[in-house]
Amino acid sequence: MTITLTVITFICLDCAVLNNHRPTSTLADALNRPLRDLRISVTDRCNFRCTYCMPAEIFGERYQFLPRSELLTFEEIARLVRLFARLGVHKVRLTGGEPLVRQQIERLVEQIAAVDGIDDVALTTNGFLLPQQAGALRAAGLRRVTISLDSLDEDVFRQMNGDRARLEQVLAGIDAARAAGFAPIKINAVVQRGVNDHTLVDLARFGKDNGYIVRFIEFMDVGTRNGWAMEHVVPAREIVSRIDAVLPLEPVPPNYPGEVARRYRFRDGPGEIGVIASVTQPFCGACTRLRLSPEGSLFTCLFAAAGTDLRAPLRAGASDDELEQIVRGVWRRRTDRYSEIRSSLTEPRQQKVEMYHIGG
Ligand code: SAM
Ligand code: SF4
Ligand code: SF4
Repeated sequence: MTITLTVITFICLDCAVLNNHRPTSTLADALNRPLRDLRISVTDRCNFRCTYCMPAEIFGERYQFLPRSELLTFEEIARLVRLFARLGVHKVRLTGGEPLVRQQIERLVEQIAAVDGIDDVALTTNGFLLPQQAGALRAAGLRRVTISLDSLDEDVFRQMNGDRARLEQVLAGIDAARAAGFAPIKINAVVQRGVNDHTLVDLARFGKDNGYIVRFIEFMDVGTRNGWAMEHVVPAREIVSRIDAVLPLEPVPPNYPGEVARRYRFRDGPGEIGVIASVTQPFCGACTRLRLSPEGSLFTCLFAAAGTDLRAPLRAGASDDELEQIVRGVWRRRTDRYSEIRSSLTEPRQQKVEMYHIGG
């Protein structure tokens, strides 16, 4: 046994040296959760106005989004990703706002995919611009794509996206992703009672028939501007039972520990759905996710009031070690578990980062 362990140790150190890696450390937060995933919001702009995220009456023509000079450059983002990778991050997801409205986003994908230790680069998009960009993203090293689509009913879909897109345009985006070789494609649908909950079964059937994994997300109280109320949330349990009544389902174990979506497969053939029950069955205990905002602030929770600025030290010439110390400190102090304590809060949190700013 001792010999075997010694050999394995040698191989691991060898690999680290051969690949010029610094071995990654496990960085744990105050509740002993490791740092594993990074979400990068590359822009606060979007070509949609989803009612649950960027309601059009607030985010109108005159709304001031971040000026370009305030956004991290791709080179700055890539430098930070190299640093996060040393601290244990191995999965990166690009999001926004709408990540595909950021010019030449495939260049960023390429830079991140080349970072030692990052073995998964994914992207969440509303799909509108995928027909023009799916091929370049795939060629740049993007491994997975999740496309948001809340309903297959044209009127419901348009109402939910602020009348910015027709259904066929997002369906064309999904087709383009498939043609570019992304598989399996995941589809995110935010479920709101009285808005799209009568169209869930159609969406589940669409996924089943086409080999897409549809993930139904409970409407969350992210930010302070989307008019969230508990009565608009359809609990995941109800989502599953409504689909199960028409398309029988059975639970499937998670793909890996801490997977956010609970999985169910169709009993009568291939295919599965997921439900993300962040409101009714929170999963803070397994939350290993750090978020980087477009202007370079680090957020340790989707419901945080404020982040920690990395851009100022970055642009003031901080060394990698200095930046690393800041990130280590932020993660070590982390105690967030908002979804677990939401129901015990006597007053709603007044200040919260917005979803379009920090990404889903
Ligand atoms: N624009 C891209 C998109 O819509 O896919 C990426 C950014 S969007 C903020 C990321 C995900 O968050 C989307 O799947 C969206 O549906 C989801 N989302 C936005 N607001 C939400 C809310 N209040 N509750 C639950 N999910 C939400
Ligand atoms: Fe834009 Fe995505 Fe928010 Fe919809 S959910 S407004 S597509 S950022
Ligand atoms: Fe993670 Fe915060 Fe969501 Fe809990 S509420 S799962 S800590 S992002």
